[in-house]
Amino acid sequence: MQDVIIIGGSFAGLAAAMQLGRARRKVTVLDTGLNRNRYAEAAHNILGQDGVPPGDILAKARAQVAAYPSVTLVSGRADTISGEDGNFTITTEDGRTIGGKKLILAYGIVDDFPDIDGFAACWGKTVIHCPFCHGYEVAGRPWGLLYSSPMSLHGPVLYANWTDDITLILDGNAIIDAERHKLEHRKVRIVEGGIRAINHQDGKLESLTLDDGSTLKLAALYAHPRNRPSATLHEQLGLEMKETPTGEMVAVKDMQATSRPGVYAAGDLSMAMHSVTFSVNSGSLAAMGALHSLMMD
Ligand SMILES: Cc1cc2nc3c(=O)[nH]c(=O)nc-3n(C[C@H](O)[C@H](O)[C@H](O)COP(=O)(O)OP(=O)(O)OC[C@H]3O[C@@H](n4cnc5c(N)ncnc54)[C@H](O)[C@@H]3O)c2cc1C
Repeated sequence: MQDVIIIGGSFAGLAAAMQLGRARRKVTVLDTGLNRNRYAEAAHNILGQDGVPPGDILAKARAQVAAYPSVTLVSGRADTISGEDGNFTITTEDGRTIGGKKLILAYGIVDDFPDIDGFAACWGKTVIHCPFCHGYEVAGRPWGLLYSSPMSLHGPVLYANWTDDITLILDGNAIIDAERHKLEHRKVRIVEGGIRAINHQDGKLESLTLDDGSTLKLAALYAHPRNRPSATLHEQLGLEMKETPTGEMVAVKDMQATSRPGVYAAGDLSMAMHSVTFSVNSGSLAAMGALHSLMMD
């Protein structure tokens, strides 16, 4: 019986595993190797790792965590879960069962790309979701923002830190006059229609072909596709969820505790704002929550 089973061994899951490994607790981490930022050539805004490829950061983290003898890293998918606090059972894709007293869900989210030609090829390179992660490299150049929710109207205010050349592509969504005036006052250009195609060379955005056939030259397009949890274990456990502007997350309380005793959630799965640093932080907190609960049993 493991003290803790961690599902998802990327930034959040490995941070949790390190904390628990250093406390000499028996931990198994299951992972399928599909970290969300794998599309980006380099990760940014991570102290000590700025500009390092995400895969390199994770490879080093994995090696460091694997050095703790009480931690087992397993390459494979967790499919089903049963049991309760003190006695959970995970079944993996190949039918193996693993028992654990506590659970940390750190399996992240999946972005569902819109059906726009060129979107997938540019994702993480020049079609990006976060200016703190990848905005500095294209600062001062023309940016576009594809409307996805009312939150998109706040984007241009934030993006003004990096560029004064911003076009909001409404994709057919209506906005009230007051919002339109605010954007125009900030010299944000507004395109009413959508994007027919993203024209690029190897993921490097050159221009958009808009619905009306016109062309818009851009260095970067900001987009916030709808997302969903990468697995369904939270559904199997009946966990309380919370809406975010682009999807849903597992609702958490102090120390990343979910609505079920003995179950903790960390990383993108448990937050509306997504970054490596936030994920590492929440993974460490979830580990502290699980450890505290183990000590009280
Ligand atoms: C294109 C892009 C670029 C980004 N760039 C940056 C950046 O530069 N800096 C930054 O701070 N943030 C960046 N982010 C955000 C960052 O990627 C996420 O915040 C971070 O990866 C979340 O970490 P996580 O551990 O919660 O989830 P993830 O990194 O998504 O990892 C989840 C892990 O769980 C595994 N998994 C899923 N289901 C199962 C299952 N059933 N069983 C076992 N394992 C499973 C997956 O394979 C994966 O390895 C970027 C995001 C995107 C989309």
